[in-house]
Amino acid sequence: MENNSEGVVITDSKGNIEWINKAYVDITGYTLNDVKGENMNILKSGIHNKDFYQKMWKDLNDKGSWQGEIWNRNRQGDIFAGWATIKKIKGDFKDKYHYVGIFKDLSEKKKLDIRMSELQQKDSLTGLYNRNYFLNLIGKYIEDDTSIFTLAVIDIEGFKEINDSLGHLVGDKVLIELSERLKSLMCSECLVSRFEGDEFVLICKDISQDRVDNLLEKLIRKIRKPYKIKNTIIHLNFNVGISRYPRDGEDTQTLIRFANIAMYKAKDKVNESICYYSKEMSEAIEEKFYLANYLAGGLKNNEFYLNFQPIFDINNNTVLGMEALLRWENPSIGNISPGKFIAIAENTGYIISIGEWVIREVCKQINSWKRSGYSLLPVSINVSVKQLELLNFSNKVKEILEENNVDSNLIEFEITESVSSGDIPLIIKNIKRLKKLGIKISMDDFGTGFSSLGQLDIFELDKLKIDKVFIDDIVSVKKRQNLVKSIIAMSKSLNLVVVAEGIETKKQLEILKTLGCDLGQGYLFSKPLEVKDVEKLLSSSKTIAEQ
Ligand code: C2E
Ligand code: CA
Ligand code: CA
Repeated sequence: MENNSEGVVITDSKGNIEWINKAYVDITGYTLNDVKGENMNILKSGIHNKDFYQKMWKDLNDKGSWQGEIWNRNRQGDIFAGWATIKKIKGDFKDKYHYVGIFKDLSEKKKLDIRMSELQQKDSLTGLYNRNYFLNLIGKYIEDDTSIFTLAVIDIEGFKEINDSLGHLVGDKVLIELSERLKSLMCSECLVSRFEGDEFVLICKDISQDRVDNLLEKLIRKIRKPYKIKNTIIHLNFNVGISRYPRDGEDTQTLIRFANIAMYKAKDKVNESICYYSKEMSEAIEEKFYLANYLAGGLKNNEFYLNFQPIFDINNNTVLGMEALLRWENPSIGNISPGKFIAIAENTGYIISIGEWVIREVCKQINSWKRSGYSLLPVSINVSVKQLELLNFSNKVKEILEENNVDSNLIEFEITESVSSGDIPLIIKNIKRLKKLGIKISMDDFGTGFSSLGQLDIFELDKLKIDKVFIDDIVSVKKRQNLVKSIIAMSKSLNLVVVAEGIETKKQLEILKTLGCDLGQGYLFSKPLEVKDVEKLLSSSKTIAEQ
C-alpha cells in the first residue's frame, strides 16, 4: 500500500485518520504527523452539500463501500478533484472496524474543464453561488430585458465581533449554518449567493412583490432563530436592503450599490430589518458606511490601480513629471472616485495600508519602466496626514525605495494643508527625514485650507500647487488673477516652484504664463493616464505638440 500510486488512507470507525501512504501525502500536502488522529473531514472542500455526505455514509453502512467523485481541499487550501473508493473493513476485534479510502487524483483532468465546473460557481465555505457567478447571472437577467427582479443584500449585524471574540472557526460555522437556512428557502426563481465575508445577496426573478415580501419575512424569521455552535448559543440580527430592476437602476453595480444604501437605512430603523431603496435616501450618508465595508477587502482582492497625470512646463509644453492618482474598482459596486473613498479610508485607518500600497506600486512601476529602458520622470505621490503621523513612516519609505531599487530623486510627496491640524512635531520629523533621503515635498491644493504662510517654511517645501478653484475663474474674475499673482510672487521669494492645477482652457494657460507660473497640470494638457498610455508618452519624444 505504501507504494501504491493512488492515495491510500485508513481511518478508525469514526473517520479519524490512522495511516496514510506516500501518494496521499503528495496529493494532499499533509504528512502522517499532520493528520494522525484528525477527522477525514479536514479535507472537506465545502463544495458538496449535506445530502452528498449522507448518501456516502448510507452506502458505507448499508453496502460496506462507496465510490464516486469527490472534491477535497489540500493543505494549501486549494480544491482538487479525486475519484474515491471507500471500503468498510473488519478489524482485529469483533466489533472494531476501519475505513480504507483510495483516492485517484483527477486534478489534471479536471483542470481542463475547470472553467465549466461547479467550483467556478460556488463559494467553497458555504457551497452557495459565489460573487462572480452571481454578477454574471444578474448581467444575464438584465440583458434578457423582459425580466424584472429584486435584489436583496443581507448583512449580519456584528459578525466581526463574533469572529473576533469567538474565533474564525465559530464564525465559519455560523456562516455555514446560515447558508443552509438560506438554501432551504430557495426555489428556481430565487437564488442566494455569498459575495464575501458576511455579505449575502439574494435575487428573486419574475415573482410578484407580494411573494418577495412573503419570502423575505419568512427568511428573516428563519435566520433569526438562535445558532447553536458547539456549546454556544448565538443570537444574530440581520439587515436587508433591497433594490429592484428596472425601477431603481439599470445596471448590476448601481443595483448593488442601492441595495447597500437601503441596507444601511435598515440598520437605522429600530423595528424593521428590511428596507427598500428609494430615491429620497441620502446616498452620501449611507454610502460612507458601506464603502468602508468594501474598502476593507480592496487591497487583498487587488482592486486598486494607479493612473498618472503628466505635469508640464507651461512655457514649452515639456512633460517634467507626473502625479500618481489612485483608482478603485470593486467588482460589485464599480468604480468609486478617490474624492469619495480617500476620506473614508482616512477615517477608518485603511489609508495607512492603502497609502503604503501606492508608494510601493509607484516604485515597482518606476523599476519596471527602468528595466524596459524608458526615460524616467519623477512621480508625485499624494500622502495623507495619517501616514505622516506614523512613527516609522520615513523608514518604511526608505525600505520600499531600496526594495525596488528606485532613486529617491524620482519620488515626490504631495501633502495638504490639513497637516497643520495634525501632530505637527511628528510630521515635521518625518518630513525632515524624507528630505534627507532626497524626496521633494509639495503643498497640494494650496489655498483651500488654512493657507498659512508660516507653514510653507516649517514644512520645508519645494513646490506649491495652486488649487483648481483659483484657476477655474481666473479668466473671468480679476481679483482671482491678483490673488494668484501674489501667491506666485510669494512662492518665488521662498524659492518654491509653482504648479497650477486643473488647467482646462488655453485662456487660463495664457494668463498663468503672464503671471509667471512655472508648471501646470490639467485636462488641457492631459487627463490622468493608464500605464500603457504613460508608456506611449515616455517613449515618444518628451515634448507634446501644441494642443
Ligand atoms: P488632487 O491631488 O488634487 O488630484 C487632482 C485631481 O484633479 C485628480 O482627481 C485629477 O483627476 C483631477 N484633475 C486634474 N486635472 C483636472 C482638470 O483639468 N479638470 C478637472 N475637472 N479635474 C482635474 P482624482 O484622481 O479624482 O483625485 C481626487 C483626489 O483624491 C486627489 O486630489 C487627492 O487628494 C486624492 N487622491 C488621489 N490619489 C490619492 C492617493 O494615492 N493617496 C491619497 N492620500 N490621496 C489621493
Ligand atoms: Ca495631488
Ligand atoms: Ca490638488
